[in-house]
Amino acid sequence: SDAYKLVSKKWKVKPTSIDLGDGVFIKEGDMAVMAGPCSIESEEQIVKVIDHLKENNIKIMRGGVYKPRSSPYAFRGLGIDGLKLWHKLASEAGIKIITEVMQVSQIEEMLDYVDVFQVGARNTQNFNLLDELGKVDKPVMIKRGISGTIEELLQSAEYVFSGGNEKLILCERGIRTYEKASRNTLDLNAVPILKDKSHLPVVVDPSHGIGIRKFVHQMALAGVMAGADGIIYEAHEIPEKAYSDGQQTLNFAQSAQLTSQIRQTFAMR
Ligand code: PEP
Ligand code: MN
Repeated sequence: SDAYKLVSKKWKVKPTSIDLGDGVFIKEGDMAVMAGPCSIESEEQIVKVIDHLKENNIKIMRGGVYKPRSSPYAFRGLGIDGLKLWHKLASEAGIKIITEVMQVSQIEEMLDYVDVFQVGARNTQNFNLLDELGKVDKPVMIKRGISGTIEELLQSAEYVFSGGNEKLILCERGIRTYEKASRNTLDLNAVPILKDKSHLPVVVDPSHGIGIRKFVHQMALAGVMAGADGIIYEAHEIPEKAYSDGQQTLNFAQSAQLTSQIRQTFAMR
């Protein structure tokens, strides 16, 4: 089909390697671990997460400062001031930042303070946002839409790539199905299919994928075995007190164990 072209392996055979600087990559043949809270909450929280990441040699911290919440009354993030503070603390610690951009107007103010822009599942088909991210010289990770197909994810990536930004990462984060026993249905089929169709690196998000803390571990390791180039998951010192997504967030002991097992599993893949 000609629904997409530039992101396909027919166009470019060599796998795309995302270089975040300082020896940090998201690429085939490597295993990028990205961990952190759903929401950036406070300076104290940022410092605790950074210490945890450093102890476990995790180089990329996730976290939202603009949160797409289903309810308008839920915590919606610390915004640009939170991002600036986070960036200062993270760069001092040698940690890279991945965070969600929700709208076009935020791109410019965020640009100097992020290492990877995340496009969230609710914005996968925000074509204006994708067009603008196509003009930016920063990596972009596009999450699969809530009810999005694999082809639609690739077409969204095509928007950014054809706009001139080839630094792209794809993320499987679960899709909405009839199944209600889990938050989403993590479609691990998407991993080998995306790897087969596209030269872009593929990341799995088991936290949003299953939405249940005690099962994040299994799904993360299943994602590694399915062929993911990276795993992104939620971690917080006290998940029960997290401002968002605590039910699917690992504590630091669980996160340390998971990261070590992700690396072991990848090494024997
Ligand atoms: C998140 O990463 O916290 C998030 C909101 O993810 P998604 O867009 O996949 O729901
Ligand atoms: Mn979340």
